[in-house]
Amino acid sequence: MRYEGAVYRPPSEAGSLIIQMTIGCARNTCRFCNMYKAKKFRIRPLEDVVEDLRMAREYYNGYLIKRIFLADGDALICKTEDLLYVMGEANRLFPENERITMYGAPKDILLKSHEDLVKLREAGLEMVYVGAESGDDDVLEYVKKGAAPYVEWLGQQENPEGLGWATGDNYGYDIVNMIEDMTE
Ligand code: SF4
Repeated sequence: MRYEGAVYRPPSEAGSLIIQMTIGCARNTCRFCNMYKAKKFRIRPLEDVVEDLRMAREYYNGYLIKRIFLADGDALICKTEDLLYVMGEANRLFPENERITMYGAPKDILLKSHEDLVKLREAGLEMVYVGAESGDDDVLEYVKKGAAPYVEWLGQQENPEGLGWATGDNYGYDIVNMIEDMTE
């Protein structure tokens, strides 16, 4: 495994093998959260993720790996086919594994079709950790949890009010392209 930066996981994943599917958080604007502020979000090449799985199998040779957590902040944003590929490799390398989990944002779930979610579940996705934080729109707006009337406005440079999830060049349009790729 070749971990990049600080790696976070839910308390209930203390005994899990953690593999970074993504680096950072695709939103990264929440006022109360500094977990991924030092990282620029990106999805790792699949071959690197699978190589980490192979390295882990070698390192933990003789140990039973019962749980796998795909980090970082919102691995569910990845394309379903890519998640299925990585999960398939995880299941092949760790046949003793009983569950795969990851973080995801509500929008990541909404972007998946029902069929996608069923496929992920059947491939071993047992749980997606979602930080709802609050049911109050005013609170969500204050903490900048991340919501916008147009997807491209999630990029601060594209948002006329200067709000959004990230400041990077073209971030809003990158998110739009990512969504289009995922829904093709
Ligand atoms: S979406 Fe989650 S991980 Fe990302 S900044 Fe907000 S609280 Fe942190």
